Parts: sequence; C-alpha cells; structure tokens
Amino acid sequence: MSNVATEVLDHFVGQVGAQAATWLQSCVHCGECAEACHFYEVTKDPRYTPTWKLEPFARAYRSRKAPFAGVRKALGLAKEPDEAEINEWQELIYDTCTMCGRCSMVCPMGIDIASLVGLVRKSMAASGVGPADLFAVAEKSREVGSPLGVTPEKMEDRIDWLSDEYEVDIPLNKEQAQVLLTISSIETMKYPQSIVAMARVLNHAGIDWTFSTKGYEATNFGVLSGKADVAKVMIERIVDAAEAVGAKTVVIPECGHAYGALRWTGAMMLGRALPFEVFHITEYMAKLKREGKLKLKSDKARKAKQKLHGILEHEFLTKLYKRCAEVATRERQILNSPKMEETKRNLTEHQEQTRRLKAMRARVEAHEAVKERAYNELVSRISSHKNAIEKNVNNSLGKKVQML
Ligand code: SF4
Ligand code: SF4
Repeated sequence: MSNVATEVLDHFVGQVGAQAATWLQSCVHCGECAEACHFYEVTKDPRYTPTWKLEPFARAYRSRKAPFAGVRKALGLAKEPDEAEINEWQELIYDTCTMCGRCSMVCPMGIDIASLVGLVRKSMAASGVGPADLFAVAEKSREVGSPLGVTPEKMEDRIDWLSDEYEVDIPLNKEQAQVLLTISSIETMKYPQSIVAMARVLNHAGIDWTFSTKGYEATNFGVLSGKADVAKVMIERIVDAAEAVGAKTVVIPECGHAYGALRWTGAMMLGRALPFEVFHITEYMAKLKREGKLKLKSDKARKAKQKLHGILEHEFLTKLYKRCAEVATRERQILNSPKMEETKRNLTEHQEQTRRLKAMRARVEAHEAVKERAYNELVSRISSHKNAIEKNVNNSLGKKVQML
C-alpha cells in the first residue's frame, strides 16, 4: 500500500473511538439513509448511498480495529483500500455529501453518518488528499473571518447599508445581549434580504439580540474540508463573541452544515461544554411561536392569502400578460400580412367609387330639380293660355266654352 493510503487509513482508524466504533459496527443495511440523501434521491446512483460513501473506511476499520480484526485479516476477508481507491473515493467523500445530517436523522440505529464523513475528511485533509480549492477557502476563513472574504469591517459596512436601505434596526456589537445571531457569508454577500428578514422577526418578537464582528460567520469550512485546526478557530470565534456579550443562545442560519458543526461537534472541538444553547433559525422561530412571541396567521387564512397573492401576482397576471402578448403578436401579423395590404387597396378603391357615385347622385338630383321647375312653368303657361282662349271665345261668340 502506498504512503498516502497508509497515512489516510492510519489517521482514520486512529481517530475511531468508542462512539465511532459503535456506529461502524451497528449498520443493519436497512437502506433508510439512502432515501434521505438528496444525492441518491436525485440520481438513484447506488454509489451515492451514505453507507457506500464510507465503505472503504469501514472496511479498513474492520480489518484493523474491529473485534476479530486479526481473524478477518488472516482469512483475507477484509482487503484494505489502496491509493487508487482512496483517490476514487475523494469525489464521494467531498463532492457528494454536504454533511447535512439527513441520513443521520433517519438511521434507526442512531448512526451519525455525517460525523463519520467528517472523520474521513479529517483523515484525507491531514494527508493533503481532497479538493485544493476547498482547502484554500478554509484557510481564507481562518485568515479573514469568512470563506467569501467578509471581514469584520465588511460585515459592519453591510449591516450599516442594510439598516439604512431597508429601514430596520440591526443591532451590531451590543455590549450585552441574550441572543447572538450568526450568518453565512453567502447570505451577507448575495442574499442580504435574509438578514433583514431575520432582524425584522427578532425585533418584532422583542428579542434582546445582536450580531458581533468578533464571531459572525456560521459556516465552518474547517469542518466541511476536514481541516480540524480551522474548524476549531471558527467555533472559538462564535464562542468568544457569545461570551463577550453574555449570550445564552446562539442562532444559526440556513446552511448545509453550520448547525451540525456547532451543535454536535462544537463542544468536542472546544474541549469544554458550549456556554450557550444552539438553535437553528427555523427551530428558534418555532420556539418563539410556542412561547407566543411570534403570532402567525391561521393556516386557513395564510393559505387563502397565498392563493390570492398567487392568483393576482402570478397566475392571473401571467395569463393576462401572455394573452396581451398573443393579441399584440396577432395584430402585428395581421397588419403586415399580404391579405391586409389587399384589403387596404380594395377599401381605398371602394371609397373612391363611393365618392364618385355621391357626386353623380348630386348631379342627377340637380338635373331633376331643373326638369321639375321647367315642367311646372310649362304647365302654368298652358293653363294661362287656356284661360285666355276660353275668355276670347266667350267674348267673341258669347258662348261659354271649356277646353280640356
Ligand atoms: S439507515 Fe443506518 S442502519 Fe440503515 S443502512 Fe443506513 S446507516 Fe445502516
Ligand atoms: S450527510 Fe451526506 S450522505 Fe448524509 S444525507 Fe446529507 S449529503 Fe447525504
């Protein structure tokens, strides 16, 4: 076996104490953890089941330290992983596990798979096996305070800007506070509205809380990368910050590993009990709700409001917009079509024809009027001639005649 493989396995097996040994011995292969792991859920690739991610390391433990290890080794029943296998497992250990602990939550045997993955990462990192980028980010956390370069000064600027921009009170570096709120740098840099939202909720609930530039970064890239020394520094910063303000509660924001890192491994890394309670933000919200400090609308009212919001903001407006866009497109198509051009030409011709017919009609009507006037004059003249003839005959002959 190569030196690297020996180093990694020596380190791993050396770290296996009573608790880890119990976990490595207790698996009943029920498969519950596989269904909990999002990597397996999405891909259905059996390599991504949590237990398979640990397989070579569990095998090394069985061949070296487990009960009857000697017998197993003598019978050739536990082949130790070589360097090629260790390198192949880098992807499974680092790239297909967020150390979220979902698998640990569902295991009926109480096996903390996420912690075992953490143990393997520690062994790999100690031998320099693992993603160089991740190790670099872990070092950056140690040097400047956060993996994304959020220094205490940047944190202060950010809080100032958010308080101003969103008109919300975001306490920072209070001298004393019951609750210390922490944050992940991805939220600080990319999703700062989540800081605003948390501040509004905590203020509304009347909580005595603060952020601290001494310890604000909840993510622990030491734990995530397996760099134990960095992990300890990150834990100590939060502990120091909480102790400085006398906080009895530390709240961890949304993050794949931050809660587990502080809640389940913090005390071990620190070497003493944590001087505060650790809550995940969702857990803390639930606590506030239970205590009546946070009153939520009833489920029915909330769902009705959401539905209405959905209709107004999404479904209805989306459909209306789509329909308007369709109508506008159709209108453009019709206006630019050859048929429309032909219709326009025909319409112009018809209009011209109508104009001509109207003019002709006016002329005919005028002509008719002239004719009527001439006729009436003629009739009147004939009538007067007739009267004159009748009068002359009467005068000359003394006889009354009537012309028809
Ligand atoms: S849920 Fe626990 S016992 Fe079941 S396969 Fe996974 S690790 Fe083993
Ligand atoms: S801790 Fe790792 S293996 Fe377990 S569910 Fe989360 S991602 Fe999957």
